[in-house]
Amino acid sequence: MPIKEKRLILQHADEPGYAPDIACYRRHGGYAELKKALGTPPDSILAEVKASGLRGRGGAGFSCGLKWSFIPKNNAKPVYLICNADESEPGTFKDRQIIHKDPHQLLEGMIITAYAIGAHLAYIYIRGEFPEGARILERALAEAKRDGFLGKSILGSGFDLDVFVHRGAGAYICGEETGLIESLEGKRPYPRIKPPYFPAVLGLYMCPTVVNNVETLCNVKHIVRMGGAAYAALGRPNNTGTRILCVSGDVARPGYFESEIGTITMGQLIHDVCGGIRDGNRLKAVIPGGSSAKVLRAGDTYAIRRRKPDGSTETISVALEDIPLDFDSLADAGSMAGSGGIIVMDHTRDMVEALANINEFYAHESCGQCTPCREGSLWMKKVTARMTRGDGRPSDPDLLASIANSIAGRTVCAFGEACAWPTQSFVDKFRDEFEAKAAPAKEVPRAA
Ligand code: SF4
Repeated sequence: MPIKEKRLILQHADEPGYAPDIACYRRHGGYAELKKALGTPPDSILAEVKASGLRGRGGAGFSCGLKWSFIPKNNAKPVYLICNADESEPGTFKDRQIIHKDPHQLLEGMIITAYAIGAHLAYIYIRGEFPEGARILERALAEAKRDGFLGKSILGSGFDLDVFVHRGAGAYICGEETGLIESLEGKRPYPRIKPPYFPAVLGLYMCPTVVNNVETLCNVKHIVRMGGAAYAALGRPNNTGTRILCVSGDVARPGYFESEIGTITMGQLIHDVCGGIRDGNRLKAVIPGGSSAKVLRAGDTYAIRRRKPDGSTETISVALEDIPLDFDSLADAGSMAGSGGIIVMDHTRDMVEALANINEFYAHESCGQCTPCREGSLWMKKVTARMTRGDGRPSDPDLLASIANSIAGRTVCAFGEACAWPTQSFVDKFRDEFEAKAAPAKEVPRAA
């Protein structure tokens, strides 16, 4: 049976004739939820977002309502909202679709969020490699301001908000929220140590700040429209709403797909939605949440929790293709839903080369602030590169694992895990391939 999409965020994105301008957006009911929200007390919106169970779509999957609730009450400092549009995780291309095809949906979600958290100044931090996206957003902001959805006393409500687009300079680490904040302040994007620098308390200019991903903010508008309880009925408990999945790699039809979270499995996505593995090849592995997520191997079984009809849970063993695509199941399976970027690899893939490619990326993107990440990411890159050149050494698989183990959990920010997890999982799950490339040590001629 064909798998059906459930489009909430992308419901108009690919409609013929749908344009990324305010006239088209309003013809489709746009900004109606903003009007509704402005007539609702901010605390009620926060309560609905909490009730919706919305989890962040940027990577960590943290509760959105909980994040907002960390903003201190009655604080004397200004509160800021930042939209994280620094979409840089390899394999992920959903936020760009939203920005290019439906920018006003993002703005409406941002304005409602700013109202709910008490922010009067907001920024969209967009990665430098998205110049067209920045132009589209600037145009959308001008339109929204012209029509009274931004600026002083929005729609006569007395609520003021200005939003600015800020273009990054092309650094992956600016997707990390405290690195982003440093960059926005005009500094080198060194992530801050948490604690004490949790953005909700000590964020932009040391003021309370909420940083949310593009897709997350778009969901807020739909929560206002539907109500938190109705939104929470989409998907699965603790995995509510819809999710945009980006599929790339060795499938017949790569692309993006939005569905209720956890209602389709990895196999359904690969075979029914994406036309199966290209050229009749066999599935070998999947990275399920952007390149920093741990790789999952076809042929292995995975222990995941399943909710029984009486509400209790049981643990079952499933094949890779039977893992439901939700936050909890992918975490149970030893990886993560991350940014929603699903990279599929077929049986022709050389896993040492694949890891070398990933390691080169992370070594380039380490901000260099802490030693395990700065040095370790470079060493992992060097070791996998020499293995792909045929200069591997017998100790290399263990050396790689040891370097990765010395990074994870020992760094200022989660980039440490992001660069260590691929090496840990690739070497663990495809050790035979790494050993095959770890050639016997060459004899070093002794000086006469
Ligand atoms: Fe920078 Fe890496 Fe340390 Fe994060 S873990 S602060 S990216 S050096």
